[in-house]
Amino acid sequence: MLTEIPVRDWEHCDAVPSTLSALIGVVVPGQLRKVETVFVVSDLQILGISSVKSETDEWLIASCVRCKRASPCSQHPDENTEKRLAVRLTLADGNSQCTVMLYHELLLKAAALMEVTLPEPPADSKDLRSTLRDMFRNAQWISRFTFKENDFQQSLELECRDIRSCLRLQPTVALMSPPDT
Ligand SMILES: [Zn+2]
Repeated sequence: MLTEIPVRDWEHCDAVPSTLSALIGVVVPGQLRKVETVFVVSDLQILGISSVKSETDEWLIASCVRCKRASPCSQHPDENTEKRLAVRLTLADGNSQCTVMLYHELLLKAAALMEVTLPEPPADSKDLRSTLRDMFRNAQWISRFTFKENDFQQSLELECRDIRSCLRLQPTVALMSPPDT
């Protein structure tokens, strides 16, 4: 089963501290090269969260229960589907910004660490969207990245392997509301 294939422990493996600018600088259009290093960037802000699809605005994608690929799955056409979270995050550090995809497990893990409760099973709703937006807005983040080769576009892409808050910010709302007496 695919889910039982041992995967690298992205959370604890060696990682090279870097900045977003340095990582973006490695991405040269039309040039693929193997970069296997794991990089870690801290003090990231998340400026935006949107659909991974350009043609529709969905934050959940129907996926094959067996292999987690987007349905319809060519390998398991009769398998059931489940909705899995998939979003595009716009990240920024002091100098640069870029977008990365963030998928189901990493999103759930980030939410659990932030003690944010998401509906189970997740459903695309205003509630879910505002919960995730607030969660990302109310913290600074530390994230681990690798480079992924995109053969189709002949370019390297940043792949997020781990994301967690490194500093929680006081929600603005709390500062604006009158003190409890
Ligand atoms: Zn499948």
